[in-house]
Amino acid sequence: MRILVTNDDGIEAAGLHALADALRPLGEVVIVAPDRQQSAVGHALTVSEPLRVVPFRSNGQHVGYAVNGTPADCVKLAVTSLLPWRPDVVASGINHGRNTAVNILYSGTVSAATEGTLLGIPSLAFSLDAYQPEVDFRAASLIARYLVQHLPQLGVPLGTLLNVNIPALPLEQIRGIRVTRQGASVWRDWYERRRDPWGREYFWLAGEYLLADGIPDADDVALVQGYVSITPIRYELTDFELLEPLSRAVDELLPLPRMSHTSCKADGETA
Ligand code: MN
Repeated sequence: MRILVTNDDGIEAAGLHALADALRPLGEVVIVAPDRQQSAVGHALTVSEPLRVVPFRSNGQHVGYAVNGTPADCVKLAVTSLLPWRPDVVASGINHGRNTAVNILYSGTVSAATEGTLLGIPSLAFSLDAYQPEVDFRAASLIARYLVQHLPQLGVPLGTLLNVNIPALPLEQIRGIRVTRQGASVWRDWYERRRDPWGREYFWLAGEYLLADGIPDADDVALVQGYVSITPIRYELTDFELLEPLSRAVDELLPLPRMSHTSCKADGETA
C-alpha cells in the first residue's frame, strides 16, 4: 500500500509524524505537508505565488517534502506532479483539535482529504480532540492505522472521505467506534479589538464553541461520550431536497428580466 500523509498543522507537527510512523508498517509512506501552520485555511489553493518544495528529513531519514502552500496544494501537487507513484490512500492529520460540525468547513485537515477524494483516491482525515500543547497521539495513531488497514473492507465509494475524530483518552478508555453525521455545533465568534506595541489597533478572532447535543448520532456527541467518530463526507454540496420546490418557485415567480426597449435605444441602436 502506498500512502500519502499530510496535515494542516505543518510538517513539524507531532501529530503528522505520529500518523506517518503508525502507517509505515502498512507499506510505503511519504509525507507532503505545509512548511508551516495552516489550520483553518479550508480548501484554499495557491494560485498567484510559486510553490517551493524542500525535502524533509526526520531522524536522519528522508521522509517527504515540505511545501510553502496549503494542505490542498500539498495533495494536488503530490498526486499530480511530485510523486513517482499514485497513492492508494491519502491520510491527513493527526490534527491537534477536533474537526466536527461546522469546523469541517474551515478545516485544512479535512480539505486535504477532500482533495484526495477529488483526485479519485480513498482518503481519511484524522483529528484528536485535545487542545493542550503537549498531546499523547499514541491511541489515535493506533486507531488511524487500524482504520487505514481495514479501509478497503468498508466499501466507501470514491468521492466520499472518512472524517475521523478521536477522543483524547488512553486506548482502553475509548468506548468504541460510532458512525456519525456532521453535527450542528457552531461557534459564537467575535473579534477582540487590541493594540500592538506601537498603539495600532488590530483584531484577533475569539469565540466559544456551542456544543449542540440535540442530534444523538452527531459527531460531537459521540466524541463527548468517549467514542471514535467516523463521519462519511462528500464534497457534493447540493441541497437535493430544495431542487424541486425551488425550481417551481423560480418558474412561477421569476421570469428572466428583459432589457427594456428604451435601454436598447440608449445604446444607439434603432429598434
Ligand atoms: Mn490544524
